[in-house]
Amino acid sequence: MAEQTKTPEQEVKPKPEAKPEQQAKPKAEKQDNCLACNKPIKKLKRYYRNGKFYCSKKCWRDYIKKSKPR
Ligand SMILES: [Zn+2]
Repeated sequence: MAEQTKTPEQEVKPKPEAKPEQQAKPKAEKQDNCLACNKPIKKLKRYYRNGKFYCSKKCWRDYIKKSKPR
């Protein structure tokens, strides 16, 4: 005996906040992303190899693999 009350579904959408335009953002000179998987390596353990940063040894090897056909 449940009384069904039909209520129009109202989707309350939060107003999209206008993002402040960031245009004076220079391209990162400093390497922040892993060269292999492109993940930010800021917080990850950095793996430094041949002057480049990778997030792990695996990624370094991946990158080497990629850069060299064999
Ligand atoms: Zn990586």
